[in-house]
Amino acid sequence: MGVSGKLFGRHGGTSRSIGRYLNCEFADNQVVAGWRGRHTIPLYNANAIVLHRFDLGETDRIVTLFSREHGRISAVAKGSRRPTSRLSGATEPFTVARLLMATGKSLDVISQCEVRETFPALRSDFETLMCATYLCDLTACTLSEERAAQPVLYDELLSALYLVQLHPERADLILRTYEMKSLAVLGYEPSLDRCALCGLKLSSQGTDYYSPSVGGVLCKKDWPQSSDRIRLNGEVKHAIALMLRAELSDLLSYPIRPAIVSQVKRVLTPTLYGRLDRLPRSREFLDSLQKNWEKSIPANRPQADPESVPPED
Ligand SMILES: [Zn+2]
Repeated sequence: MGVSGKLFGRHGGTSRSIGRYLNCEFADNQVVAGWRGRHTIPLYNANAIVLHRFDLGETDRIVTLFSREHGRISAVAKGSRRPTSRLSGATEPFTVARLLMATGKSLDVISQCEVRETFPALRSDFETLMCATYLCDLTACTLSEERAAQPVLYDELLSALYLVQLHPERADLILRTYEMKSLAVLGYEPSLDRCALCGLKLSSQGTDYYSPSVGGVLCKKDWPQSSDRIRLNGEVKHAIALMLRAELSDLLSYPIRPAIVSQVKRVLTPTLYGRLDRLPRSREFLDSLQKNWEKSIPANRPQADPESVPPED
């Protein structure tokens, strides 16, 4: 659905000038260009999720966007901190919006917005707020390059935000699955059916040893040399395979026990540390929040599986 070209608000010098001089269409999949004085300003559309925002000057913000079409974009939202600005809502974290962007010399400028989703329920509970913050922070760490489109990861992030909002009690499974899919996007999908060192085909059943530093299971010949091996039983391997292959929305229908999700976390966390330069600080905060929560075990949260036995190293 197209939105005709009257630009929103008075966003300050550049975009106000754009608003005055541009005659543009805000339509799906259309790249447009407008005029400011004698100069052509390239414009483009983007469906984007706001990952971060920072204040700039007295009324502006810099936002980090994850757009489906163009990947990570840093942009200025001029005047967006003014209470009357229509860009204000579109620059809140996790907000999904369709944007008309003007290409700038250093940073692009958001010139129009149409908010599609604000995830109000995510913001009403502190733990789900932190889960959403972590999802966005992890995405920012994963997308190291600007302008590298990752439409699959965009769709997964959108699904993860919706699902945490709808099923906060399954947030652990949703977060671990998104981490797994992020590793796959980076090219570090864990090897489960072959030894990650020698390539020997391994049985899908039974117990294996997994090495986070190598990024996969190891055969009997190779695992004694690994200093960071973690024992991985068949149920955990099956859960990891499901997380890699299944759609996030379908995954919730599989009976993956909370204890198994905890064991997947034990494998995934050091793998992520090894593959990304750093894990977001929101992850540490979320972990400490969940430790405090586990001490109190409120009635509306899944309890630890009493039959589970932690894997031996
Ligand atoms: Zn091997």
